[in-house]
Amino acid sequence: MVEKVIPIRVDEGKGLTPSIPGQLVAANTLTKDTRGRPLRDLRISVTDRCNFRCTYCMPKEIFDKDYPYLSHSDLLSFEEITRLTTIFATLGVEKIRLTGGEPLLRKNLEVLVEMLAKVRTTVNQPLDLTLTTNGSILRKKAAALKAAGLHRLTISLDGLNDDIFKKMNDVDFPVTDVLDGIAAAQEVGFTNLKVNMVVKKGTNDQEIIGMAKHFKGSGVTLRFIEFMDVGSSNGWDMSQVLPSQEVANRINAAFPIEPIEANYPGEVAQRWRYLDGSGEIGFISSVTQTFCHECTRARISTDGQMYLCLFANEGFDFKTLLRSGRSDLEIANAIMSTWSGRNDHYSEIRGSNTAGSKSSRKVEMSYIGG
Ligand code: SAM
Ligand code: SF4
Ligand code: SF4
Repeated sequence: MVEKVIPIRVDEGKGLTPSIPGQLVAANTLTKDTRGRPLRDLRISVTDRCNFRCTYCMPKEIFDKDYPYLSHSDLLSFEEITRLTTIFATLGVEKIRLTGGEPLLRKNLEVLVEMLAKVRTTVNQPLDLTLTTNGSILRKKAAALKAAGLHRLTISLDGLNDDIFKKMNDVDFPVTDVLDGIAAAQEVGFTNLKVNMVVKKGTNDQEIIGMAKHFKGSGVTLRFIEFMDVGSSNGWDMSQVLPSQEVANRINAAFPIEPIEANYPGEVAQRWRYLDGSGEIGFISSVTQTFCHECTRARISTDGQMYLCLFANEGFDFKTLLRSGRSDLEIANAIMSTWSGRNDHYSEIRGSNTAGSKSSRKVEMSYIGG
């Protein structure tokens, strides 16, 4: 991965400044990238490790025991993540998602959740705190996450047929344990759960109707994600993508659905509801119906790099800034100047990308968490 130290532009308050001046905050709510997009959400990857080897994310031929995973000192500490989150929130970020790798593998994650849940009080504004997990150890962790103040949860599950799911996770992990994790989350009081299903044509698309039937009427929103060409190791090709429209057609034939309005501008998933009133489903169609024009998301990788796109091939080194005595104001300025130079719109130009060349090497999904 290419590392690049961002140019820091400090307009005022040189030296250590304990807080971020109001005028800077006000300026940031107006700060847009070169395509007019504001910065609204932040995804933070808390570990590059995972107990699954999903073929579309961490294929085991590459992510084997010799893979150079990050050492503990390379990871941002809980204090560093909280400080960075506070600065982002002060600058107008409204939504934080913890991800990975498998975030629940990060030791004492609930302690981080508790620290982040307090940020909304520090910045005195709403801050949505969510987490995406493969659900494998959710039964063990659900109560602690709820008590720590996590607001919402998304669980990934690619099918209900054990053979198919095991083929996808590639570590023989059974469906029942993920379903049990979902039940545990409901038991401790998480509501509005979401389940993400990556659809790979020819691998698990026969699971679409079964998944829809299972979650219909359960209060859980099932979301279908098109298989994406993230990273440089998952062997993606267009023939394995089942367009969301096709998924919607198949579901509509079994259980009639209709599209509904987005909850907020820039919502990534397109929402549909069952005509019989038994809930809604979502589609994340980053391949066939791109949404770069309203992408308001930044990502912090496990090793503290800020990425401006899921498909980026380089990040901006915020770990060095955090560890070199920079003030909150300097870091805030660095975030703003990085964001204002953003021009990413990979999905819109996917076809013209030179896949496979060195210059097109992209950051792995497990570093930045989807
Ligand atoms: N380990 C956690 C999990 O699986 O939920 C969090 C990290 S995972 C990288 C975040 C999300 O990215 C998951 O819902 C996963 O299914 C999705 N994902 C990973 N690789 C993908 C790909 N190639 N195309 C589409 N979605 C992908
Ligand atoms: Fe692990 Fe999530 Fe990637 Fe699957 S999608 S390998 S569970 S990080
Ligand atoms: Fe955002 Fe990049 Fe995805 Fe476009 S391709 S929606 S810019 S993350």
